[in-house]
Amino acid sequence: MQTIGMLGGMSWESTALYYRAINELVREQLGGLHSARIVLHSVDFEEIEALQRAGDWQRAGEILGAAARGLELAGADFLLICTNTMHLVAPQVSEYIQIPLLHLADATAKRLRQAGISKVGLLGTAYTMEQAFYKQRIEAAGIQVVVPDAQGRAEVNRIIFNELCLGQVKDDSRQIYLRQIEAMGEQGIEGVIAGCTEITMLVQSQHTDLPLFDTTAIHAEEAVALALSDQ
Ligand code: GLU
Repeated sequence: MQTIGMLGGMSWESTALYYRAINELVREQLGGLHSARIVLHSVDFEEIEALQRAGDWQRAGEILGAAARGLELAGADFLLICTNTMHLVAPQVSEYIQIPLLHLADATAKRLRQAGISKVGLLGTAYTMEQAFYKQRIEAAGIQVVVPDAQGRAEVNRIIFNELCLGQVKDDSRQIYLRQIEAMGEQGIEGVIAGCTEITMLVQSQHTDLPLFDTTAIHAEEAVALALSDQ
């Protein structure tokens, strides 16, 4: 079994979900008392979020790059950045390490292609919905990406940082997300990417008729498949 390097804490609410999902998958597949080999570096998210807001991606990338190098030195065979948003600095982080980085947008694009999706809605932070770093990798797989309008994006983003990253799950906020999915549905989307690792706390597949692509679950599953590929 390979050792998974997790760069987490962004937020720790979703890192805890990753940790559980990865271990459950290893137990399911190997049985007995088997559990995942993991090394985790969990950052102080207050510091990273301030850098995001200031647009200082360079500094954020340096912090994550140094942490990633530490994970490699601690024995990680490959790296997960446990947040969609911070894949904005994935190219910079990769420069600090020799081990592969299992990119979340690529893992998601692979699932979308397998499901035959050609047009997908994307919910995530404003950075993920508005900048190119994530969407372009989905589009490179031949899949059209739709995001909510400006007001919708602001609401979706606010709920991530002011509620979900603090562990707050509210029915009113779920309704706001479902309305955004419905609005994108009118534009012909065939599925929705829960493109923020905390969204799975709020919206699950039973809440919508459209196929939901849960990036936390996808990343955990791909990580376990890779970790166990030598079994
Ligand atoms: N976990 C989130 C994501 O998947 C948002 C927190 C962050 O800004 O990293 O994008």
